[in-house]
Amino acid sequence: MNQHDAATCARSDLEAWRENVWQGRLDRNPFFSRLLRRHLGARYAECESQLRRVVDETGPQFNKLVMESNRDENLPLLRRHDADGRPIEEVVFHPAYHAVGQVFWSSGVLAVLTEPGSEVMCGAIAYLLDQHGEAGHACPVACTAGAIKLLQKLGSDDQRRRYLPSLLEINYDRRLHAAQFVTEVQGGSDVGLNTCQAVPEANRPGWYRISGEKWFCSVADAGLFVVSARLEGAPAGTEGLGLFLVPRMINGAPNGFALRRLKYKLGTRSMATGEIEFDGALGEAIGALEDGFRNLVGIVLDTSRVHNALAACGSMRRALVEAHSFAQIRLAFDRRIIEFSLVQEILARMRLRTMAGLATTFRLLAMTDRAGTVEANDELAAARRIGVMINKYWTAVASTLTIREGIEILGGNGTIEDFSVLPRLYRDAIVVESWEGTHNTLCAQVLRDFANRGLHSAWLRQLGGEIKDLTHSELGHHVTRVRDLHREVSNRIELLVATDPQTAAAHIRHVVDCMCRLTDVVVFLTQAQWDLEHGERREVIDALELYRLLELERANPQDNPELTKLNGRLASKL
Ligand SMILES: Cc1cc2nc3c(=O)[nH]c(=O)nc-3n(C[C@H](O)[C@H](O)[C@H](O)COP(=O)(O)OP(=O)(O)OC[C@H]3O[C@@H](n4cnc5c(N)ncnc54)[C@H](O)[C@@H]3O)c2cc1C
Repeated sequence: MNQHDAATCARSDLEAWRENVWQGRLDRNPFFSRLLRRHLGARYAECESQLRRVVDETGPQFNKLVMESNRDENLPLLRRHDADGRPIEEVVFHPAYHAVGQVFWSSGVLAVLTEPGSEVMCGAIAYLLDQHGEAGHACPVACTAGAIKLLQKLGSDDQRRRYLPSLLEINYDRRLHAAQFVTEVQGGSDVGLNTCQAVPEANRPGWYRISGEKWFCSVADAGLFVVSARLEGAPAGTEGLGLFLVPRMINGAPNGFALRRLKYKLGTRSMATGEIEFDGALGEAIGALEDGFRNLVGIVLDTSRVHNALAACGSMRRALVEAHSFAQIRLAFDRRIIEFSLVQEILARMRLRTMAGLATTFRLLAMTDRAGTVEANDELAAARRIGVMINKYWTAVASTLTIREGIEILGGNGTIEDFSVLPRLYRDAIVVESWEGTHNTLCAQVLRDFANRGLHSAWLRQLGGEIKDLTHSELGHHVTRVRDLHREVSNRIELLVATDPQTAAAHIRHVVDCMCRLTDVVVFLTQAQWDLEHGERREVIDALELYRLLELERANPQDNPELTKLNGRLASKL
């Protein structure tokens, strides 16, 4: 081929790649389908048609809209006053942003939460939507889901009647969407330093006037704010914090708040994050005020942390799809780059993390469904609570690594904002790492839960039970290994809780890493057993083997030639 032909060929390859990269998404993700079949059982068939509809509506056209709404010139703008100078505190979005929102809301991602036991389904829809890396709506969906849970669990009959129907609304134009404002300028990790004040409203029991500044206010356009504030005279620290529902507008005017500015952000840019000053905003208490912090962590942040993990999984999957399909069409040195072992190694690692993150996240969603329906008990709730925190951390880290590797596969083209979604995903991934609790904050909370409430026992027992259920004869040696790993992690945790607080604080993140690896292996094994029982592919066994070599043994291909073969097999599929 002469040089001119090579250039023409490369250009049409790239064009064809962009046209086709996004076709047949559900069918090309058999691991996801099997995971869902395992968790949904008999309900899978009825849910599949809804998922297919989501896929059909989020094809290449949708992708273009998301790209459009994220362009620099189309980002949200603040309009504080109307033509007559009255405060309106409005955020103005590009039409493409709203067009994307129509699809998000009509997917039913929030509406399914009307029925108890729908977390897996909600997560499945969110995961498909999140593959577009559209944090601009994924974040409002997560915040709204948190408000829904708060009301479902703690709302009075009157509060539920007033808010739930519009929070669960499927129609974008009629929806009520929520935000959660906790962080103040003095710190997001140390929430106990919150200074926003709540003063009881005279003659209106349960209602308060809220004043003070919130420093990071995502979904600044929301119709309903969940706000943490300290009741006058309440104790210092997290103990004195209450939770309040603050409607954006009262009688057609902003409810005692001013949007000082929108943040100029690295990622999640199509969504408006503002700095807000409250000055006597009218809000009503939700749940007992003295339980405000407990409800914030246990319900609101807990929900967003699972959605955060879904967003991380969606982004990883997207990065994998982009990189894998690109590697199949891109030529270098007369070969498709997917033929190079080093490319296969990267793709295999990306796939491994993508599979592990998805399986651990859906394990938690299934636990939530069980806890909310057939099996509500403290043990399951405790195991799940720890699982949610460590999974938020682990999937967020995995996501950044995976997207970065996707960019590596695309080479220089991978760094170009309008060539693929990967640069945007990478910027968003950094935000996904820090909001809803930074890595260290999550680890510190896990340590507190171990030291003060002994929750590690429930977490270990839950995984121990799942290991006991692994009875398939073909998994024998893997099960022996995972039992050893469980014992090792258990010993590490025992050592941690027995040591002095300062040493424990220095060690906790390393222990959490071990806990995450153990969880990954258990979910792989559980899925592998289901696959074997249902005559399905053996790819999860390959994934397990690769995970052992890479993550547990830090193996080197010179000593372990099977590594290269496993890479090749895992990299060959999506
Ligand atoms: C784009 C974006 C949108 C956001 N939207 C919202 C929102 O809508 N609502 C909201 O309430 N918040 C929001 N946040 C804030 C976010 O939740 C905080 O940034 C986060 O909680 C961390 O707080 P901080 O930034 O103040 O960091 P800091 O608390 O100042 O922490 C700085 C560093 O110190 C580390 N650190 C802190 N404590 C410890 C410890 N005990 N041990 C070890 N290390 C520690 C942290 O891990 C971190 O690395 C948003 C953030 C971003 C980036």
